[in-house]
Amino acid sequence: MATKLALAEYAGQDVQIINAFLKNEHEDNRRFLADCERWFGRTITVLRDQKFDADIIQVFRRKQFMKGLAGAPCSRELKRKLLDDWKQPGDVMVFGYTAEEQDRFEDFIERNPDRAVIAPLIEKGLGKDDCKAMIQRAGIELPLMYRKGYDNANCIGCVKGGEGYFRAIREDFPTEFEALCQVQDEIGEGAYLFRNRKTGERYSLRDIPDGPIRRNEAPPSCSFFCEMAEQEYA
Ligand code: SF4
Repeated sequence: MATKLALAEYAGQDVQIINAFLKNEHEDNRRFLADCERWFGRTITVLRDQKFDADIIQVFRRKQFMKGLAGAPCSRELKRKLLDDWKQPGDVMVFGYTAEEQDRFEDFIERNPDRAVIAPLIEKGLGKDDCKAMIQRAGIELPLMYRKGYDNANCIGCVKGGEGYFRAIREDFPTEFEALCQVQDEIGEGAYLFRNRKTGERYSLRDIPDGPIRRNEAPPSCSFFCEMAEQEYA
């Protein structure tokens, strides 16, 4: 949605659409990308990391950790570095932060005062559910991960997920879950994502305690803001 709005607002200017290919995302993300290309009437430039073969498992193995205080190495190696290499001085980045994420966007601006960024969804007051509904009204099926009830179409078994999320991944995608367990087995404690709040002891994905499965199954809603924004590109 952020792309669609940026294309409308900056028509006639050099707007480039970038995507990072990741092996660990669901293959339906590629179908969604092709549908969006048709909707935009534009080709999307797909960047693909060579060093780790665009594979989070290879990143974890070689970096020997999965998540640290400064974030996840997979995101840095497979997404941010590609973009940093690709972008040109003077570029303005278009962020897909939704209205719910205004704080995150403001934090980013505070931490990166030299970066020129815009967030069209926040400007239009569009929330995540608004965006999902607008995509569906454009005749595009949401990525399968959303349709299964997940809150994003990240890698299957995103290391930023919590325990409830990983219980869902264990149930829905046992092969991908096992691959993450195996890499934790190899690396050991340094790759564990969770910690016992009482004892401070860290534990692996295999030892996640019983608890609720969380896929965030709220159906897409709609608000007045989608209509206003839709009029701009209609
Ligand atoms: S979606 Fe999650 S697992 Fe995939 S690269 Fe980003 S942080 Fe890593």
